[in-house]
Formats: sequence, C-alpha cells, structure tokens
Amino acid sequence: MEGSKNLTKRIIIALILGLILGFVLNIFAPSVFEIVDPYILHPLGTLFLNLIKMLVVPLVFISIVVGVAGLGDPAKLGRIGAKTVGYFMITSLFALTFAIGTGTLMQPGLTAEFDTENVTYEPQEAPSVVDTLLAIIPTNPIDAMSGGNMLQIITFSIFIGLALAVLGDKTKGILRLFEQGNEIMMYLINLIMKLAPAGAFALIASAVGKQGWEAFKVMGMYFIAVLIALFLHTVIVYGGTASLLGKMNPVKFFKGFAPAMAVSFSTSSSNATLPVSMETAQKNLGVPKHISSFIQPLGATINMDGTAIMQGVATVFIAQVYGVDLSLSQLLMVVLTAILASLGTAGVPGVGLIMLAMVLNSVNLPVEGIALIIGVDRLLDMTRTAVNITGDAACAVYVTESERKRESK
Ligand code: ASP
Repeated sequence: MEGSKNLTKRIIIALILGLILGFVLNIFAPSVFEIVDPYILHPLGTLFLNLIKMLVVPLVFISIVVGVAGLGDPAKLGRIGAKTVGYFMITSLFALTFAIGTGTLMQPGLTAEFDTENVTYEPQEAPSVVDTLLAIIPTNPIDAMSGGNMLQIITFSIFIGLALAVLGDKTKGILRLFEQGNEIMMYLINLIMKLAPAGAFALIASAVGKQGWEAFKVMGMYFIAVLIALFLHTVIVYGGTASLLGKMNPVKFFKGFAPAMAVSFSTSSSNATLPVSMETAQKNLGVPKHISSFIQPLGATINMDGTAIMQGVATVFIAQVYGVDLSLSQLLMVVLTAILASLGTAGVPGVGLIMLAMVLNSVNLPVEGIALIIGVDRLLDMTRTAVNITGDAACAVYVTESERKRESK
C-alpha cells in the first residue's frame, strides 16, 4: 500500500479520535449527537463502508480465479486447502479453550444479580449444518453473486480457476482478462483506502455515540472476560503462528496487519474488510497473491475465532446466570457447535449473536439469555471481528512459509 506506514498511523489516530468523540457526545452532549450522527457521522461512515463493500464480490471472484489458475496444479490447491482448513480447525479449538477457561475462572455470571425474569429474546432460525454444507455449491452462480453469498462465490471461482489452469493456452485470453481485472481491483482499493481514516473515524464515533452505557454496569465482567480471552488468543496463537510457523517476528506481523485490523474494528464486518485485509497481507506481510486470495475470502466466511470466543464465554456466562452446571460432555458440545456455528456465520455485523442461539440450544440453555448480553455486543463485535480477520492473515503467513519451504527443497 502506498505510504502504508503513514496511512496506518492516520487510520489509528482517526480511530482514537472517533472513540473519544463518540464517548464525549454520548456522555456530555447526547443532543448534539442526535444532530451530528444522522447528517455527518452516519453518512460519512456509510459512504466509506459502501465503497469497500462495492469491491467485495468482484474482488473475491476475480482474485480467486487468478489465484487458483496461477497455482497451475490441482494437487497444490488440495494441499493448500487441507493446510488451511486444518489450521482453522485447530485455532478454533484453542479459541474455545481460552473462552471456556476465562469464563470458568472469572465467573462473570456470578458477579451481579441478573434479572432473568423479564428477559425475552426471539431466536432466529439458524440453518442446519447439512444445509450449510450442501449450500456451498451454487445452483445459480449469478444468484450467488447478486446475493453476495461468499461461500458459493468461492466455490464457483475455484472451479473457473481450475478450468483455466487445466486448459492452459486454450483460454489464455480469458486468464489475461481476469489478471487485468485484478489490477483494476487493486487500483480501486488503494483509491478507496485514502478515505479510510475519515470512514473509520465516522463509523467509530457513530457506534460509540449510540451505545447505551447502562448495560456495562452489570455486564462489565462479561465484557472484560471476552476481551481477555480475545487478547490471549491473539497474542499467543497468532503471535505464535507468526513466529513459529511463519518465521516472522510477531511484532512485524501485528504492525503490518494493523491497518486491516483498524478498518475491521470500525466496520465490524470481516466481509466488508476483505479488500483491505487481502491488500494488507499481500503488501505488508509478503503473502503471495494466490495464497492470500484463496485463504482470506474463505477465512472471512468460515473461520471466526473471535466470534467463537464470544460464544464460548457467553455460553458459560449464561449457564452461570441461570445456575446450570455444564458437564464436561456439555462443554465439548459447546466447542463442537461453536465451531459449526462459525461455519454458518456470515462475516457481517452482529451475526455471531444470532448463531449463539444454536450453541445454547445444543446444551439446553435458555436462548433468552442472549437478551442479557445484547447491550454490550456492539463493542465486542468490533473487537472480535478484528480477531477474526487476524486469524485468516496468520493462516496465510503460515501457509506462505510452509509452501516456500517445500518449494526450496
Ligand atoms: N461481525 C463478525 C464478523 O464479521 C461476525 C460476528 O461475530 O458477528 O467477523
């Protein structure tokens, strides 16, 4: 990214200023917020968000086609795919271990009197696992694209990329077209990123300004427990991945990926941040295009360690509030369903909370408990989304190094 250090600095300063403005307006001048938000903050934030969202579908399609075609060899795709999915599974297990461990040690559900009499929550229908798996294949790719169905777009793009790789010279022209399309996408991402500081500032100020702080008084301990688990997971698992598997200094990893983390923090959406996270991983972490464009879109859709952590802590919290002791086999059930839930969780704001209903159902906990944590979820959503996309980048760094080693043998 051009002047990437400068841009990172500006985005981070904008985030901090946005946080401060949001707090100040919320606490001292709510009436000013009522005017500033609908006319300035919200439109500015949405403008930036829509601009990057505009690139998501064409970018995923084009970059996966180019990436897979560039692999040249279907066996390589299989190998990278297996490493990626294996990494996603193992890190999700770590995530849930941190979540359940933190929730059990800190006991956030026992720190206050929670009113469980009057809470209500209408759970939305979560898709079944079989349906989720079958739905990976699009019966109509145009439909998948117009609906922004990531998993289906990924599948279709992989097939097209494979065909181009196998057909080689016969389809050289089309491959060239896709490569040029990729150039266009990269150019546009760079262009739109110039607006990132303003966009991040407005999105954060708007979200924080809207936040009702009452919920934090009773929910503080739960909030802190989720943050601690997210922090431990990020530092230990992703920092460890960078240094042990990726042969990269963890400080370099986190610093390099910071612009994408900052943008995801303000958008609360892995999908919307995808153009930025791919660009950042390629430019700042040295992940080759073909690896980044396969792992990151897939990860933004199916790998959500941050979301799994929130769900793990929330389940333990709700069990404590309702006085339910979870047995070891029930905890294992939580781990399993939270991993499956993250497969079905779209990378958009707030969905993690909807999928939590599936986890609670699996161990017969009342879904109404979700109502208790809704009040603080917006801020946690920002943080867990940053963790979600960092997990994908860590995976990309690991696969890059392991492929490099293999090729240099
Ligand atoms: N907002 C999260 C993401 O996009 C998903 C969630 O946990 O709600 O990654």
